[in-house]
Amino acid sequence: MPKAETENFDELISDFSRFYILTILYEGPAYGYQIISRFKKRVKKEVSPSLVYPFLQQLEEKRLVTHSQKPVGEKERKVFELTESGRELCTELFKRFADLVSIAIEPSLYVCAHCGCKIYEGAYRETINGKETAFCCIHCARSYTEAKQSAKRMKTEKRSK
Ligand SMILES: [Zn+2]
Repeated sequence: MPKAETENFDELISDFSRFYILTILYEGPAYGYQIISRFKKRVKKEVSPSLVYPFLQQLEEKRLVTHSQKPVGEKERKVFELTESGRELCTELFKRFADLVSIAIEPSLYVCAHCGCKIYEGAYRETINGKETAFCCIHCARSYTEAKQSAKRMKTEKRSK
């Protein structure tokens, strides 16, 4: 299989509309009109067919997308879907995007005192030694207190020897 061209990928998705079209394709195959209506429903903004179709064509030329003719209702439609390279690039792109987003929301994040994972919302809190401590879940809270207790126990055992 020929390798996809990826050099100009950044340029290709340099705006939000194109980025969002990719997220729609990432969810599964769709035909042009579906992409346009999903876009409108979720972004609450119209996307012009004169952006969508040339973009799909560009993606296809770069072998990031393929299409097949499929019957939809009474009509035959061009159903577009991401190729394997297309999916890989999207995953990469979403990761990069997620990093950007987490930088933006980082100050409002809690970190689980036990496993260190980031808590976006609904931290589980427990007061430990008079200090309110945030955990991602009750299990982490339990492991954390158990670890503290056994550390304390070990100290006392050492002392008694
Ligand atoms: Zn945790």
